[in-house]
Amino acid sequence: MGLNDSSPGAMRNGRGLSDQWAESVVVRPRTTERHITVHKRLVLGFALSILTLIIVTAVAVVLSVRFEECGGREGVPGEAGTRGPGGSAKLNGSRGERTGERGDEEGAQPWRSSRLPGSVRPRHYDLRLAVYMDNFTFSGEVSIELECINATRFIVLHADRLEVDRVSVTAEGGASGRPANRPGGGVMRVHRHFPYPANQMYVVVLHRELKPMRVYRLNVSFDAAIEDELLGFFRSSYTLQRERRYLAVTQFSPIHARKAFPCFDEPVYKATFSLTLRHDPQYTSLSNMPVESSSLSDEDGWVTNHFARTPRMSTYYLAWAVCNFTYRETQTDGGVTIRLYARPDAISSGAGDYALHITKRLLGFYEDYFKVQYSLPKLDLLAVPKHPYAAMENWGLSVFVEQKILLDAEVSSSSYQMELTMVVVHEICHQWFGDLVTPVWWEDVWLKEGFAHFFEYVGTDFLFPKWNMEKQRFLTDVLHEVMLLDGLSSSHPISQEVEQATDIDRVFDWIAYKKGAALIRMLANVMGQPLFQKGLNDYLLSHMYSNAARDDLWSKLSQAMHSEGRDINIGEMMDRWTLQMGYPVVTISKNQSEQLPTHYITVSQEHFLYGEEVRKNNSLQWQVPLTVAAGNASAASLARLLWINNRTETHMMGPMDDNTWLLGNINQTGYFRVNYDLQNWKLLIQQLHSNPQIISVGNRAGLIDDAFNLARAGYLPQGVPLQLIGYLPEEMSFLPWHAASRALYQLDKLLDRTDEYRLFSDYVLKQVASRYHQMGWPTNGPEGSVLQASYQTEELQRELIMLACSFGNKQCHRQAVAYISDWISSNKNRIPPNIRDIVYCTGVSLMDEDVWEFIWMKFHSSNAVSQKKILLEALTCSDNAFLLNRLLNLSLTSDLVPEQDVIDVIIHVGRNPQGRNLAWKYFREKWDILNSRYGEALFMNSKLISGVTEFLNTEKELNELKEFIQSSGVGAGPALPRALEIVEGNVRWHRLHRRQFYQWLRKPPSSALG
Ligand SMILES: [Zn+2]
Repeated sequence: MGLNDSSPGAMRNGRGLSDQWAESVVVRPRTTERHITVHKRLVLGFALSILTLIIVTAVAVVLSVRFEECGGREGVPGEAGTRGPGGSAKLNGSRGERTGERGDEEGAQPWRSSRLPGSVRPRHYDLRLAVYMDNFTFSGEVSIELECINATRFIVLHADRLEVDRVSVTAEGGASGRPANRPGGGVMRVHRHFPYPANQMYVVVLHRELKPMRVYRLNVSFDAAIEDELLGFFRSSYTLQRERRYLAVTQFSPIHARKAFPCFDEPVYKATFSLTLRHDPQYTSLSNMPVESSSLSDEDGWVTNHFARTPRMSTYYLAWAVCNFTYRETQTDGGVTIRLYARPDAISSGAGDYALHITKRLLGFYEDYFKVQYSLPKLDLLAVPKHPYAAMENWGLSVFVEQKILLDAEVSSSSYQMELTMVVVHEICHQWFGDLVTPVWWEDVWLKEGFAHFFEYVGTDFLFPKWNMEKQRFLTDVLHEVMLLDGLSSSHPISQEVEQATDIDRVFDWIAYKKGAALIRMLANVMGQPLFQKGLNDYLLSHMYSNAARDDLWSKLSQAMHSEGRDINIGEMMDRWTLQMGYPVVTISKNQSEQLPTHYITVSQEHFLYGEEVRKNNSLQWQVPLTVAAGNASAASLARLLWINNRTETHMMGPMDDNTWLLGNINQTGYFRVNYDLQNWKLLIQQLHSNPQIISVGNRAGLIDDAFNLARAGYLPQGVPLQLIGYLPEEMSFLPWHAASRALYQLDKLLDRTDEYRLFSDYVLKQVASRYHQMGWPTNGPEGSVLQASYQTEELQRELIMLACSFGNKQCHRQAVAYISDWISSNKNRIPPNIRDIVYCTGVSLMDEDVWEFIWMKFHSSNAVSQKKILLEALTCSDNAFLLNRLLNLSLTSDLVPEQDVIDVIIHVGRNPQGRNLAWKYFREKWDILNSRYGEALFMNSKLISGVTEFLNTEKELNELKEFIQSSGVGAGPALPRALEIVEGNVRWHRLHRRQFYQWLRKPPSSALG
């Protein structure tokens, strides 16, 4: 919204239309020879046109007339032609109708389709831009070498918000490179050219047809603004020594290259690019490739940088920046230069060194893993103060928002460092999955995002093996997280059809990233790592510098399996997982039948859905690679792989007795939930209480997550997960604690306004107390960095402190208050970095207003981005409604709070039980402002909507949400229907399950056996 409808856009289109015919034919000539040709043809065309006009008038032709006359007719299609609705039924905006056409000529009207017609393909772009940082505009000339595929009179490409001046087309001769001055070469007369804003397209209509197999050159000159909005070629600023400095940088993914130059802006139109940037010499400029030559103008002293030609790539990976940043650099063993560019003060403080260091190691890691070299001679990492996403993987010039790449090791927590590391690992992976091999179309964006997200964990394990990311953290942060979303009936398949440009943003959601990663991990485990790696290697080599669809991947992976004699049709299996929404719950039980002996098990599958009423008539089925092990108090069997293809199947297991438990989805490598009969749950719980180590750490976390979610959806009695976490005092590992705390916070949101809340919080504190006291608080040694410490221990300690403080452990509160008091009185922050967020938040919520003011002051004076963020979030922990209101208003109306943090402030106020109503009310009141500011960035938008609605759980709040959706929620994307389903689920849980839940807590069974 708001994006395309701003008046400058309309104005620019109008300006573009007023061009004279003569102008539109003349290119900026390169040679005198060409210039003469142009004029000869002009004169000839002019004469012919007059003649035609005379004949036309004299004969008074009644049939449809092709206006070939001179004068202002050319290039005013918007005003000429019919304005009626003819043929525009499928258009969803009125703007398209401005381009009414004469029926005879453009019956086909290929620009009315949302996709490019494909009659011509770009081969190479010569793009020359002059960038004016004083008034934030730029002007450009692009010369596109085109190959004609099918004969056509139309060249249809993308352009949005560009003021097009001149358009010309020349024939270059045959595809074999016949020169232009030979027969068949030379200027092609342009009949007319016009924008088609409804599809963000630009249309060039020629007099004569372009011929297949021939090469042409389209030249367009244009002007545009360097916008404030973070899309296309945009600007942002920062302060250096109290002076405001500007920079301009691009963000083209997914469909914004068309805002910077006319281009074939779909991923499949790969081409090479030669970019030239001209600008004031006080700035430097960067692009995907290194500068090949540079010159200074004698006239105005401006610098012109010619960048080397890129390899074949998609338009959305082209990037450039004009800034006065400085850099630090390093080199890989293979000779690739890596530079990190940032604000000069950040560079001099060394804040970029960490990212530079890991990037160097990562390039080596990926080259080894994929067995494909990094393609470019250099890789620049650019840290910008403002960016719509965490980062963007432009080939050779990846752009990061500062918070995701600059690290001040002294004050950063391990979680900040981990997040930053993973963003870098993700973007570097894209240099292969994305830049080198690009999904054919946006429906399969998960082909790049799922891989990059999966490799975040694999690559981080390479950097820090102790973090154990892929085997552990992946479960809670990816698998458990996305199964929450994908268990809703408002979910969607991971491959989702998308046609309209405006819908493309919506495919970049957590289903694409997280489900993509989870499916890839499942597949990697089914195949085994060596074959998986072999398949990926074949896939990258076969499609490098080109595009691929999911079937291309499946076929390479299947081939890898066949090469080892393993006959699996991966495409057939994976289609079930990618073309269907959701995932199954697999129920395993020992066989009860009289006829079959007990070493048989029955396995059934059904679509897991939180809503009990929506799952009645669901018929989805999957090919489930189910691993199962059996065990008892002393040992567990090795896992067996069973393929479950039907609704219910019987499989043989080894010998079992009454004390044998079954465990499914070993190490949680599969993307599904597992349920058991109650007797088996009881045996598993017993096992966890007596000796948890027999079950792997991944499965312990998995059992917790499955149990809580199965109970929430009504597949299991409410007491089962509560009883299960009764073993936590025995749990020494971080991951199961983390899984439990995530599930408990989910419940906390449902329960914290109920009368019996204390029953719940006391039960949680009871589980936490012993381990919390045993682990204690971290000491603040001189080596605070996570690199040296054991990540697992630090994270467990942090998790326990967080649980203890947030559920009301008095000792935890006293400790936090003591830390804050010490900070205020000594003005020395002696709080260990890893738990600062917890201590700040606890302090602000328990202590008086002066502490809030103190933190507010520190927020302003701090320069370290990681510090600023947690100080800001701490301010939302106050229970003083006046202060929370003040914070909300300051966030939105002043520039005291960075723009990308405003949404987090609102969400965090919502997470505070004292702030919930306030955040919900504030969100509705300010929706228009918020939506116009963030609505276009769907990721932000859906984060905000879920953040302020997920805790709503009464009938009254449900009605408020429905009212809001009816009155204001039009066009907000899928986030609102999803929010509605979640809140309906919350209300339903209260209605159906709360009583049983509290009943269990009032009278927990005396033993684990319940
Ligand atoms: Zn990505």
